[in-house]
Amino acid sequence: MNNFQRTLKRSVSFSGVGVHSGNLISVEIRPAAANTGIVFQRTDLPNKPYIKANAEAVFDTSLATRIGSPQAYISTIEHLMAAFFGFGIDNAIVAVNNSEMPILDGSSAPFLVLLNEAGIEELKEFRKILIVEKTIEVVDEKNPTRFIRIEPSKKPLISYVIDFGGVAAIGRQSVTMDYTAKAFCESFSFARTFGLKEEIEFLFSRGLAKGGSMENAILVSRTEGVLNAHGLRHELEFVQHKVLDCIGDLHLMGMPLLGHVIAHKAGHDLHNKLARAILENVSARTIRVPSVREANRLKSLLTFPKSLEEVQVSLSGLAVG
Ligand SMILES: [Zn+2]
Repeated sequence: MNNFQRTLKRSVSFSGVGVHSGNLISVEIRPAAANTGIVFQRTDLPNKPYIKANAEAVFDTSLATRIGSPQAYISTIEHLMAAFFGFGIDNAIVAVNNSEMPILDGSSAPFLVLLNEAGIEELKEFRKILIVEKTIEVVDEKNPTRFIRIEPSKKPLISYVIDFGGVAAIGRQSVTMDYTAKAFCESFSFARTFGLKEEIEFLFSRGLAKGGSMENAILVSRTEGVLNAHGLRHELEFVQHKVLDCIGDLHLMGMPLLGHVIAHKAGHDLHNKLARAILENVSARTIRVPSVREANRLKSLLTFPKSLEEVQVSLSGLAVG
């Protein structure tokens, strides 16, 4: 069982609409050397500043995960970060000519297709992993029913509960999955973001969500249910998308996590607070390059597909903008 860092074989370019600005945005994802991490670059700003994607760089989580500074930031990175997790990509440069990533179809699946096109390159440096030894928990101070924690576990797991009591089409959904690249690609990567019609109308009235449409989100009405013509991709698509977001947000730590993530009505804010708490809480976790023996024991955590042919996911018909 090897545990080498990865990057892309070659660059891949694409463009798509930004959900908040409505602008057409161009992106190029390029290979990067070992230990670079994931680094965004704003090619539209003077001096084309780089923005390193890590948990400490997050400074706004109100509508999506935003990293950088008020002068140079990039928003809505979480679906691409989750796709990087799906292929175990540790190092890449993401050059973007706007302040947000294109939304594509609202899931991670089109990003997986693009990364698959670019191909995966294994580097010569080992990857570190993070092992949780004591439970680390973050609770929303204003609403203690919202929390997220990570517990020690022999295998990587993630459990998520959402509760939209007032919206019958969503309701309460819960799911537990292996927190592995394979499970992510096969069962979660296709889940789209969602919004309530009434809330979207409020965002529209404030000049936000200009690029939002039923091409890139599930639109739910309190009274009429799911409004998209083809309905849902899976009956649990709402909670599956929250797992996708959580995986993308936690991938800002840049390494596989051995533990059991348990989230209850969480969101980007709590995902990021947990990532920071895990990094700060040095007595509750270890970060290390696993020994060969340990790597063999943690095969499910350290196995990442090299192409989409290795996973059982039907991505046909998922158009890339
Ligand atoms: Zn999302």
